[in-house]
Amino acid sequence: MKILIVEDDATLADGLTRILTESELRVEHVATGEAAEAAFLRERYDLIVLDIGLPGIDGFEVLRRLRKRPEYVPVLVLSARDAIEDRVHGLDLGADDYLPKPFALPELEARVRALLRRGQANKNPQLRNGPLLLDTVARRATLSGQAIDLTSREWSVLENLMLRAGQVVSKENLMQALSNWDKELSMNAIEVYMSRLRAKVEAGGVRIRTVRGFGYLLEEQNEPG
Ligand code: CA
Repeated sequence: MKILIVEDDATLADGLTRILTESELRVEHVATGEAAEAAFLRERYDLIVLDIGLPGIDGFEVLRRLRKRPEYVPVLVLSARDAIEDRVHGLDLGADDYLPKPFALPELEARVRALLRRGQANKNPQLRNGPLLLDTVARRATLSGQAIDLTSREWSVLENLMLRAGQVVSKENLMQALSNWDKELSMNAIEVYMSRLRAKVEAGGVRIRTVRGFGYLLEEQNEPG
């Protein structure tokens, strides 16, 4: 997996490079928008981590140019400006996720992993966990071959858990996945979606564990169940 980091803050870029390299990802770093464009024209990346405030052309312009390309590369936008307009603008331009600065490096690493998994899932549109199958192209969910009805928010929660099966997904991450970046959801809302979702899947032997004070974990099952 190859990642391009576009960040002009050398200290932050070093931290990002270190943590991602430690998780066995190949990392290339550039510090300007122009260098980012040259890099993505020359190379294929599995993910681009893109700072908005850059010297020369800014991150928005880099994203605009990237999205004119035929190939799809997931983009995680970083922004120092804690402005809702940045998030919305990033979304409009086709960013896949958004992380406001300052952030903890493990949080960034978790987001990177989620995006990489999603990218892999897009190559294989079917997500399976035991008896549970999500066809992300047909938007169809089945449990032991029986169709189950999910609302779009239940779908989104489940897809996030399946993309990171066997790992704890924080409530904050789920909230972000559900909120489309512009509407804040309460923690209680997540619990409501989770209990509805459990009612729909646990009868089939799929287990979603609560990790108290942190989030949820979908137990990984490799057998079709
Ligand atoms: Ca910057």
